[in-house]
Amino acid sequence: MDVFGLIGSPVEHSVSPQMHEAAYETLEMDARYVTLEPAEDALGPAVDGASALGVDGLNVTIPFKESVLPLVEPDPLAERIGAVNTVDLSGEPTGHNTDAAGVTRAFEHHDVSPSGTAVVVGAGGAGRAAAFALADAGADVRIANRTVPRAEALAEAVSGADAHGLDALEELLADADLLVNATSVGMESDETPVPAAALHGDLAVLDAVYTPLETRLLREAAAAGATTIDGAWMLLFQGVEAFELWTGRSAPVEAMNRALRAAL
Ligand code: NAP
Repeated sequence: MDVFGLIGSPVEHSVSPQMHEAAYETLEMDARYVTLEPAEDALGPAVDGASALGVDGLNVTIPFKESVLPLVEPDPLAERIGAVNTVDLSGEPTGHNTDAAGVTRAFEHHDVSPSGTAVVVGAGGAGRAAAFALADAGADVRIANRTVPRAEALAEAVSGADAHGLDALEELLADADLLVNATSVGMESDETPVPAAALHGDLAVLDAVYTPLETRLLREAAAAGATTIDGAWMLLFQGVEAFELWTGRSAPVEAMNRALRAAL
């Protein structure tokens, strides 16, 4: 039996088990997906132990996405982002960041090219993944964050990117093609980091927030005529990418999407 899992804290509300097990069932794989919650100072022994026990791959979530880096051989993208959300344990542990592909594949799935001018709001983990992913896909990236020095530090690392405060959003979005909300604003609340007046019909808007699925940002974006993409699409495609990396097989995207949305 193949064993995959999620390591983080807390993990009990994760919907990754349902999403991945739907893939195993669809492809008739003898595999399980488990959730693991080690103590914060026990990440090293936990990764070593999982590897020794024959676990094939791990997703990594808060609070371990950065601290797992020195425990694995990161690929160049994960190293640039500075965070790992997927570990391949089939040999020496390697670290990957599939949140980045989660962003680009979510756009592509909606027939939106991840290119043109992209505004990324947020400069934390999701913001870093989105900014590198979109710049690598050829977009001209503008980063806006509440804490401007954090946006500046990220813009320095991302080719061609520039940094702004949230007060510049209206101006930044006027001629933009893509918008990603990579802040936690809107999570479990009816707030938005983007003024409604800045939204327009030529935008495709991806909200990384997936609780609720229809955030205020997406509601206002739809009202402005924009293409809207909810956070479950990013979550889906980071999982699809991890599945494909671990197994070398094409993921059953529709089955994973159905299971994910039923579990959210
Ligand atoms: P993080 O590293 O803690 O970063 C949080 C970001 O939100 C920072 O840019 C922070 O700005 C900003 N922020 C927080 N409160 C704010 C406020 N009141 N006003 C303006 N900005 C605020 O978190 P993360 O891991 O990047 O996650 C961000 C969101 O993305 C979460 O909702 C998470 O669930 C979601 N996410 C979704 C996926 C997916 O697959 N859909 C994947 C990863 C993350 P400062 O720098 O100024 O603090």
